[in-house]
Amino acid sequence: MTSSYWLSEAHEPIPEVEPGEGVDVAIVGGGVTGCACAHVLAEAGRRVRVYEAREIAGGASGRNGGFALRGGAPAYDVAREQLGPERARELWRLTERYLDRLEKLAGDAFRRTGSLRLAADRDERTELDAEYEALREDGFAAEWHDELPAPLTGRYDGAIFHPADGSLQPARWVRRLAGLAAESGAELRQGQRVASLAELEADQIVIATDGYTNGLLPGLDAVVQPTRGQVVVTEPLERRLFRCPHYTRHGYDYWQQTPDNRLVVGGSRDRALDIENTAEEKTTSLIQGHLERFVGELTGNSAAITHRWAGIFGTTPDRLPLVGPVPDHEGVWVSAGYSGHGNVMGLACGELVAQAILGQEPPELELFEPARLLAV
Ligand SMILES: Cc1cc2nc3c(=O)[nH]c(=O)nc-3n(C[C@H](O)[C@H](O)[C@H](O)COP(=O)(O)OP(=O)(O)OC[C@H]3O[C@@H](n4cnc5c(N)ncnc54)[C@H](O)[C@@H]3O)c2cc1C
Repeated sequence: MTSSYWLSEAHEPIPEVEPGEGVDVAIVGGGVTGCACAHVLAEAGRRVRVYEAREIAGGASGRNGGFALRGGAPAYDVAREQLGPERARELWRLTERYLDRLEKLAGDAFRRTGSLRLAADRDERTELDAEYEALREDGFAAEWHDELPAPLTGRYDGAIFHPADGSLQPARWVRRLAGLAAESGAELRQGQRVASLAELEADQIVIATDGYTNGLLPGLDAVVQPTRGQVVVTEPLERRLFRCPHYTRHGYDYWQQTPDNRLVVGGSRDRALDIENTAEEKTTSLIQGHLERFVGELTGNSAAITHRWAGIFGTTPDRLPLVGPVPDHEGVWVSAGYSGHGNVMGLACGELVAQAILGQEPPELELFEPARLLAV
């Protein structure tokens, strides 16, 4: 079926909050970012309303690979070059803190398994080597693995194990987070699309739409590229082959096994990069064919595919999100453009925006300043 395996899980309805008159903060988007932001604001006593066009986690938050990784989209050594050593360290520390926060909030939707970044060839091994050295130099936990167990043996040329990382059932997690926000008093309006920011009556507005920017702010649409990712899930395999999330070929191939031994495989976007730079949320036979072949290679047989789907994430030119006040739009905030790494960053950035609205001036926001890319 062409719907997300994660979203298909049965769940308790999210508690309803009686609609109030006006609100202090209106949030557009009911994924991890919007729910994280709403949770912190509602806990602090602000009147909050989340507008979600579909259902909570119905966007990328319920359609992703379920990897909860430290850091941003670039590897750590690349981030050091791009941001400078201190800011890269700050970003990595932020996400490590938020992995701990995720563990505290997510219950059984999160497993602290670590993750494995694999080298597909000699060149990628050299890149892994550089990341490993940079992480160790700056005191971040990382393990080098030369010996790889079957079915990785002979296929990959070394790996870095990142012990801080983990695996999510992302829809279960974000529904849980939405429940926490609602219990704290946030109103969640599902099935309500915001056509224009002008229709929102609130002192502050937060745009939390990642890759689904679609027309709310032309400046944002110009900078955040909607990017399609496709995923397949198999029937439960007889054996556990993979104990944690695995990724390789610069993240273009990624996979993990669920607790009931299903294989979740995503990626192959590089087989048609131009076509996959789209906001159209549908699967294609080309990418699905690649994913199916890859499932066959990993399992040694053709495990039946039970679910296949597409989702959209937002990519920025420097692969860092835009998080903070929108220049020249008084009272409008954005947190979007995680460039494929929004599970932990979305939680972190949604909370950072909430803290900023509460007047706490979190220093990490400086890393993601929207004005660096956003022309008004
Ligand atoms: C296939 C795929 C695999 C991925 N794998 C990973 C991974 O393994 N690890 C990782 O860290 N990240 C991954 N990502 C990225 C990650 O899923 C996203 O960055 C993250 O979920 C973004 O969360 P969000 O809340 O900001 O946005 P979303 O979850 O996309 O939520 C935005 C919501 O806004 C709603 N919306 C949009 N416009 C409007 C409007 N006008 N009015 C009302 N509602 C509106 C949408 O319906 C949507 O639900 C992946 C993404 C995809 C698509």
